[in-house]
Amino acid sequence: MDAAAAELGTVGTQDAPAVELRGLSVSFMSERREVVALEDITFSLEPGSFLTLLGPSGCGKSTLLRVIADIVQPRTGTVRVFGRPPIEARKRREIGFVFQDATLLPWRSAIDNVRLPLQVGGGAQGARSAGDLLALVGLAGWENALPHELSGGMRQRVAIARALLCGPKILLMDEPFGALDEITRDRLNAELLTIWRETGTTILFVTHSIHEAAFLGQQVLMLAARPGRVREMIRIDLPEPRALAIRDTAPFGVLSARLRAVLETC
Ligand code: ADP
Ligand code: MG
Repeated sequence: MDAAAAELGTVGTQDAPAVELRGLSVSFMSERREVVALEDITFSLEPGSFLTLLGPSGCGKSTLLRVIADIVQPRTGTVRVFGRPPIEARKRREIGFVFQDATLLPWRSAIDNVRLPLQVGGGAQGARSAGDLLALVGLAGWENALPHELSGGMRQRVAIARALLCGPKILLMDEPFGALDEITRDRLNAELLTIWRETGTTILFVTHSIHEAAFLGQQVLMLAARPGRVREMIRIDLPEPRALAIRDTAPFGVLSARLRAVLETC
């Protein structure tokens, strides 16, 4: 082992999966009863890949993202993010999180919301500035707008730019477009794929929508509920780069039907 590399903590991460879960179980105490949110989850994810998580409400999708982000601790099993425990990934700012609600500070401009991680928790800027990231998410010219001056879709774009500020290696997205109208959601779906290609970030994306799961993901992780378990990991063999029109093709229809059939058993 190279001593200098060991000191830097880089050993073992060169060829490591972006995310590796082995026998992961998570429980919560609720009214003195143990609720098993996730049971025996095992899968791994290549760096740079795009995984969508699909499953009924309460099957543990949000919990799974929270474990990877070091917000929730597992009861059993191991979790590795680029070969290290999640707490290391968190300290290194390797993880960005986008929630359903953009959670912007209403008194701060778009660009100052994107810069927030530099002031809170001492993050350091990655390769792209806040201004570059606003351009990347299609908000060039809106730097000084306040959140109430932006539409729901635009606020979510700001939240994505903010999550990318520290140059994360993994982007965790928990139903980020769930509250948006269909046209805005379609547009953001297409643009998210462009952002994914341009940044090379590994993305885990939770959704309720079969079409969103199939359009975005290289793979769909289907979870069954009570307790949350892996039902199936389904590879989405659609050509890349994908444009929205792919949803009108026969192979997309076949895949969607397959996802729906599996979802009905979850
Ligand atoms: P999903 O995101 O798929 O809808 P969640 O991960 O939010 O599911 O929840 C999975 C299960 O764990 C649910 O039964 C939920 O009620 C329970 N749960 C999640 N977080 C907590 C918590 N902090 N305390 C108690 N129970 C929780
Ligand atoms: Mg959830």
